[in-house]
Amino acid sequence: MNSARILLVEDDLFLAEQLRRLLEEHHHQCLVAHTAEQALQTITQQSVDLIILDLGLPDVDGIDLCRRLRSRWTMPVLILTARSDALDKVVGLEVGADDYLTKPFEPKELLARVRALLRRAYEYGGKSQAAPDTVVRVDALEIDLEGRCVYRAGERVPMTRIEFDLLAELVRHANKPLHRDTLFEKVWGYDSEFNTNSLEVII
Ligand code: CA
Repeated sequence: MNSARILLVEDDLFLAEQLRRLLEEHHHQCLVAHTAEQALQTITQQSVDLIILDLGLPDVDGIDLCRRLRSRWTMPVLILTARSDALDKVVGLEVGADDYLTKPFEPKELLARVRALLRRAYEYGGKSQAAPDTVVRVDALEIDLEGRCVYRAGERVPMTRIEFDLLAELVRHANKPLHRDTLFEKVWGYDSEFNTNSLEVII
């Protein structure tokens, strides 16, 4: 799994910006929240593959946020902590975080953890475990991501697997630019150098 949508919850603006750039350089889509409230808002509005969560937040303690996230969602949570206190890590893992990193950390260390968590989530539970709402409506179209079917004005639209996967991928990244290589990876399972035309044809 090369590309994921990652929610970064970090109130340190400078660090948040650095991490966002790092993740985007590695082809992830990065949503940033500076408070717990923003994080909850984001995650109820769109599906997220992984959360990077700073424990020291201005509004709600990261541990509490982690507990709240776990009560509703199952995507991996990687906690970041400036506290070297072992107790925080233990509590963090107890309330459902999957892994933790202590600040300061090396970028490559973060990327390695992210990669491992995504791979595990992907292997165990399908591409996106988030999805509190799996039916997406776009104008007259109703796209059932879980049931893999599309309705237009109540009528089922016949689609091939590739067509559906492509549409679903676009819907999951609505209003966001999506690199054609990423699309190829996700829909065809290989990158575009093998076949340059099929994407345009299907679109
Ligand atoms: Ca902080």
